[in-house]
Amino acid sequence: EPGLYLVATPIGNLGDVSRRAIDTLGRCAVVACEDTRVTGKLLNLLGLHRPMRRYDDHASDAAREALLAEMAQSPVALVSDAGTPLISDPGYKLVREARARGIMVTSVPGPSALVVALSMAGLPTDRFLFGGFLPSKDKARRDVMEELAQVPATLVFYETGPRLVASLEALSAVLPGREVAVARELTKLHEECRSGTAHDLLEHYASHPPRGEIVLLVGPPLAQEAPADDVIEAELRTALAE
Ligand code: SAM
Repeated sequence: EPGLYLVATPIGNLGDVSRRAIDTLGRCAVVACEDTRVTGKLLNLLGLHRPMRRYDDHASDAAREALLAEMAQSPVALVSDAGTPLISDPGYKLVREARARGIMVTSVPGPSALVVALSMAGLPTDRFLFGGFLPSKDKARRDVMEELAQVPATLVFYETGPRLVASLEALSAVLPGREVAVARELTKLHEECRSGTAHDLLEHYASHPPRGEIVLLVGPPLAQEAPADDVIEAELRTALAE
């Protein structure tokens, strides 16, 4: 059936590709992807040979129009380098426009690093806020942490090895005492999930520079601390005076 198929691909372990993903990729007229080398490798491993077209949200209107015209006639798949399309990855403008035009849009779901990390980290999962990538500049990064400090939810961020230590430093300054988890190389050979305070993790990663792909998680704000005695006394005095 013509339309746009959002196909999730593995985040490291090829075994996580679904049967439906293979089936869908095998049938589509075109595979739109972020990087034809990365997706070409995946298609090769799956024994599929499909035409690929590079696409991201910075693509020209003409390039997007061409894909939209194609999916009105035949099935078009959108994949990203890894994981679920549109999750800190391109596709939003394409999906929005396809839906606006009444083109069938569907998902072939699969892994997403944010969900994998959240399910493994041992932090509350009833509420979470996905923060995407933290800014690379220190001031902007701290501003984001301050902005989210009171959100009663687990915070989930995508992170990179070279920036992890700086983010942990910022966390230990802005949100001290919070439970933090670092999930690294998920579904791969050197998968690791470490938790502690930002300070504990900082000690570890400062001497073990992390390689690979990382999800950084921060537990919700700790229960409000009891007010200090002098604060209670002052409030009582005011109330009595009134
Ligand atoms: N769309 C992808 C998804 O659904 O997970 C995410 C794309 S985003 C550009 C890439 C980031 O996802 C990485 O920098 C890292 O934070 C996270 N990530 C992807 N694969 C991962 C893995 N195997 N282990 C840990 N984090 C991963």
